Amino acid sequence: MTETRTTCPYCGVGCGVRAGVAGDGQVTIRGDADHPASYGRLCSKGSALGETLAMDDRLLGPVVDGRPASWTTALDLVARRFAATIEAHGPDSVAFYVSGQLLTEDYYVANKLMKGFIGSGNIDTNSRLCMASSVAGHRRAFGADTVPGSYRDLETADLVVLVGSNLAWCHPVLYQRLIAAKAARPEMKLVVIDPRRTVTAEGAEMFLAVAPNTDVALFNGLLTFLSDTGHIDDAFVTDHTEGATAALAAARLSVGEVAAATGLSAEDVAAFYRLWAGTGKVVTVYSQGVNQSGQGTDKVNAITNCHLFTGRIGREGMGPFSVTGQPNAMGGREVGGLANQLAAHMDFSDADRDRVARFWNAPALARFPGLKAVDLMRAVGDGRVKAIWIMGTNPVVSMPDADGVRAALKACPFVVVSDVTARTDTAALAHVLLPAAAWGEKDGTVTNSERRISRQRAFLPLPGVAKPDWLIVTEVARRLGFGDAFPYRSPADIFREHAALSAFENEGSRDFDLSGVAGISDAEFEDLAPVQWPVRSEAERAPDAQDRRFFADGRFFTPDRRGRFIATPFAAPAPAQMTLNTGRIRDQWHTMTRTAKTPRLMAHFAEPFAEIAPADARRLGITPASLVKVESPFGSAVIRALVTDRQRPGSVFVPMHWTSETAPSARVDAVVAPVTDPVSGQPASKFTPVELSAVAPAWYGFAVCRDEPAFPEILYAARARAKGGWRLELAGEEAPADWVGFARETLGLGPDVEVLSYLDTTAGRFRLAAFSGDRLVAAFFAAREPVEVSRGWAVERLAEPATTAAHRLRLLAGRSGEAGADPGATVCSCFDVGVNTILAAITSGAATDVASVGKLLKAGTNCGSCRAEIGRLCDGHRVEKAG
Ligand code: SF4
Repeated sequence: MTETRTTCPYCGVGCGVRAGVAGDGQVTIRGDADHPASYGRLCSKGSALGETLAMDDRLLGPVVDGRPASWTTALDLVARRFAATIEAHGPDSVAFYVSGQLLTEDYYVANKLMKGFIGSGNIDTNSRLCMASSVAGHRRAFGADTVPGSYRDLETADLVVLVGSNLAWCHPVLYQRLIAAKAARPEMKLVVIDPRRTVTAEGAEMFLAVAPNTDVALFNGLLTFLSDTGHIDDAFVTDHTEGATAALAAARLSVGEVAAATGLSAEDVAAFYRLWAGTGKVVTVYSQGVNQSGQGTDKVNAITNCHLFTGRIGREGMGPFSVTGQPNAMGGREVGGLANQLAAHMDFSDADRDRVARFWNAPALARFPGLKAVDLMRAVGDGRVKAIWIMGTNPVVSMPDADGVRAALKACPFVVVSDVTARTDTAALAHVLLPAAAWGEKDGTVTNSERRISRQRAFLPLPGVAKPDWLIVTEVARRLGFGDAFPYRSPADIFREHAALSAFENEGSRDFDLSGVAGISDAEFEDLAPVQWPVRSEAERAPDAQDRRFFADGRFFTPDRRGRFIATPFAAPAPAQMTLNTGRIRDQWHTMTRTAKTPRLMAHFAEPFAEIAPADARRLGITPASLVKVESPFGSAVIRALVTDRQRPGSVFVPMHWTSETAPSARVDAVVAPVTDPVSGQPASKFTPVELSAVAPAWYGFAVCRDEPAFPEILYAARARAKGGWRLELAGEEAPADWVGFARETLGLGPDVEVLSYLDTTAGRFRLAAFSGDRLVAAFFAAREPVEVSRGWAVERLAEPATTAAHRLRLLAGRSGEAGADPGATVCSCFDVGVNTILAAITSGAATDVASVGKLLKAGTNCGSCRAEIGRLCDGHRVEKAG
């Protein structure tokens, strides 16, 4: 077996991966113990990477207007249509919409083509949806988009405050590093601030369930408290910053006023303030809960104000810390993937434009920032943008007002999509589909949340005639007549140019500086070890030169090198009876094009759900496991109800992953309003006023089958891969007249299968089991209420080599007939351990805590992503017993 060191393609933690390929092509994945972001750890998603590499839905060749085409035909057409559109309507009539999934080298070339040579700023990235408010907040406070600290700061801090961050699920390995550090130093404190009691809150000393969109009040109140109690670093503020007085004046809120604004008790607010003020080594970590807001940039600055005020920045265990959602959101920011930035952290000032134009020898460098994602899609919709190239992202699912985005792309005269699969909602609208390299085939670099650049290395051959994104863009650039500026033969060529631009006329004036790697050879690029920027000299490439921090010396990147306090007056959110909050779940990634390929990741949550507080459920007549409708003026979604006291009344949480491919009624971004932060342009995806109502289907259904099921045109359908086949959840407004015919068509049962069925019209129950010889091919259960059949048990029947007569009867009855046979929903994906199995161990007294559950069942002993959930089950049992 040969092993390649590469990087996980999912979240912004950027864990190191060792990918082994055996002689028979089998891929094994393990953590890279030498990688300084993860030290050998991988979460459930990273561990399952080897199971997501199947070729079944890969796009293997270009497609033009639905028909296979050669690269020459496809690329000639792309260049011709873009050139003709620019000729007729000017450079701003075309656009690129790119992705934090691209490697830095892909991103660099796309940005150079659009901003440097086409001459428009119209390239924006899906990182706009997750990071733009942090970028804007950094630029306002520091004069540059600088993350000051390192992951190690989360381990060495005495207090870590997580704001709007479900770190346990969304950045699991960083969370595990934090929890391990806390276990080693029990005096270390963790505070979680979130409207929802996520699993991350389980390990915290203090959980503050703030009302949505009131974080600015909480941190303004903290600034006031720090001032009133004398917790100020006078020397730092006086010598190195501007604007403290104005920021403090705008922030003035008493503890009581903060309590009233946030819905917290005054005692909790005061306790948090005392803890923050009294602890020198504080790291405040924030993520999408802060960024995805109409006040996202102000939230970031309200946090940075507190750190500047106390001088707690840039020193070990101190500082504000934004964690990025995507694997290469940071790389995209470095090369100007955002429409309002130029490459190498430069902006559209005259000096920066001139510098970049000279470096690139670019004749027509864009004069103005381009359109940000939401505005860009509006411009596509109203015809200002007439040709768009979408690379590695699925905006028809992931953008707010997703139905509006779908309509805009449908009406767009020319849509090009580069992707690894044609099975996305966006690819379905493309005039030209270009097959791109997938993870495992790509070669280049990514940058994680702590500014660490790591290599992604190819360990698999390119399938079909797929090409890396940088090469596809380069070939179009050459066809557009810009060959001299796009001479690249390899990612190493691009990386060297990117690094050289970062060093060009820098002299310490810009944070992003890779001069120490600008001259590396191809071989050195191949072997490049993970390195944290800035890399200002060859010496700084050495591993012991890691963990550099910014701003401890008080020198920022503003024109006068002083940091900036920003006035962030709090404006209470407009009252709404119910608001929608969207986000991620532990085992899925974005629109599931990869993670939905593996049954074990689908076993955690096999269908979309809406988390609703019990009080709201009672008020609206919503029962557990029934269906709910979430509706806004932009669209609606029908989703399974999950009634839980983790949710606060007045809020509903829905994951953003499900698509037309997996649950057509549950594309929740169709409901999300296209409201953006006025500074960053980031959509407020965590706060859409909505109507929530109970749905009363005539019937609910559940099925398992060997082959991929079809989606009938009914109220609700969600399909997921399962061991040995598929599982399907259904609900309809009208019972089918012919149940057997309906089941046959949905489950694709041919005439040669043997079908047993049972229909009780009075009780409204239907069951069907289909066999090919001795083997179960499909089972279908329908009832007037949510079907109670054990999902795990039914799925396991698919894997059985043969069914006996007794088994057949049990299948029709929908009951295992065996004690303890229902493991329940999967908690531990690595060892396939279900919630019922864990609960049985806890209630019997065989296990009492996470460690003993692990010892007994192995659950939580591999990647560790489920440890927080196991802890919650143990705690819940303890509380129940005490009660
Ligand atoms: Fe990948 Fe998980 Fe690491 Fe994120 S935490 S980079 S998803 S292994």
